[in-house]
Amino acid sequence: MARRVDNKKQNRNLWIIVAAVLCVTLIAAAVLFGINYADSGVDPVSEFRAKNVILLIGDGMGFDHIKAGNISTGSRLQMERFAVSGEVMTRSLTPGATDSAAAATAMATGVKTYNGRIAYKDGKNLETIAEMAMAQGKKVGIVATKTVTDATPAAFLTHASDRNDTESIASQLIASDVDVLFGLGNETLYAMADKIATDERDYCTSFQSIADTVLTSGKDKIFGLLEDGAIQNFGANTLAQLTRNALTKLSASDEGFFLMVEGSKIDSASHDNDMQAMLNELISFNATISACKEWASANGDTVVIVTADHETGGLKVPSINDASEAYDALLDYDNSDKWFTKTRHTAANVGYYIYAVSDREIYNSVEAVNDKGEIIYDQNGDPVMVDVVTGYSEIDYNVLMDIPEEIDNTDIFELIKQWLLTQ
Ligand SMILES: [Zn+2]
Repeated sequence: MARRVDNKKQNRNLWIIVAAVLCVTLIAAAVLFGINYADSGVDPVSEFRAKNVILLIGDGMGFDHIKAGNISTGSRLQMERFAVSGEVMTRSLTPGATDSAAAATAMATGVKTYNGRIAYKDGKNLETIAEMAMAQGKKVGIVATKTVTDATPAAFLTHASDRNDTESIASQLIASDVDVLFGLGNETLYAMADKIATDERDYCTSFQSIADTVLTSGKDKIFGLLEDGAIQNFGANTLAQLTRNALTKLSASDEGFFLMVEGSKIDSASHDNDMQAMLNELISFNATISACKEWASANGDTVVIVTADHETGGLKVPSINDASEAYDALLDYDNSDKWFTKTRHTAANVGYYIYAVSDREIYNSVEAVNDKGEIIYDQNGDPVMVDVVTGYSEIDYNVLMDIPEEIDNTDIFELIKQWLLTQ
């Protein structure tokens, strides 16, 4: 009896020690991850599969940027209407806030690295989702509103220990197998122009030639490198237009594709605390999201995911309930209002927003017509009805709700890999 009591006591002591060790470990882990780089460590699992994935990155676009966009347009921006959304943690291995290079690397490769690195960590190149997609025979497109050698586009196609190694990034872009690359050129790229056009690849330098070439060329690949200032926020020569051209080219054959589109200048406008310039970039980016949603609805079998690499400017838009008062306050905004609280990146979470359509076609019954467009009637005098495909069914919330509400930026890579590259 006594012995049994002793045993129990020993067991209890053992359990107290085990529990104490577990507590200390958990607290240490929480402190470590909390201070350094928050990552749940658990990759989200999504059962959904798609032929095409479009990733849209608003550089520097935090929640309050979107709030300002909503006030300015008088309605919710397109991404906020998507069925599934949540938050993304953006920290890199460098203390403080991430830069675009480390954040794009996390999304492109699923690996956290240090600021300044381009798909690269500790002396090693990291394989990107774009490279994996190409290896599986998928088409790949990259579109940006700034120079294509900049951090975000570069991190999907090239590898560098320093984001400013423009020479190396430019030659890697030209050597890459990417199918579509649209954005601004620079001196370094123009100096290598004779290597861009090949038997397989067209080289365009204007919106018009991009649009014409996409429709008429027999070549598989295209680079469109525009002069600074060529991409407008409104009118004809926009990011949305470039993106539509990219979608046309990437879907010309049947393999399926990965497309990354960056609204690059939301960030620079926010560094400058320039509200109007930020809104112009954001609203143009929003129109691009709408163009992608439209394309996905019309073609099916596509996921559109919108996110940001980090927040820029520490923007805090005050809550004003009355819509017209809020609009007036935004219209009258100047920097003395101090809605922008910083001129640098912050470690604040950003959003993720997902819109997905399946490959299930939706049929609608319509009246059959003859060659002359006249309605055909049966012997009873009733119009003959035929089924036509009118669209694809949108994925409802339930299919994608297994994605946690808060994810890490490396999870963007995991999700795209599952949707696009897992059978
Ligand atoms: Zn920045």
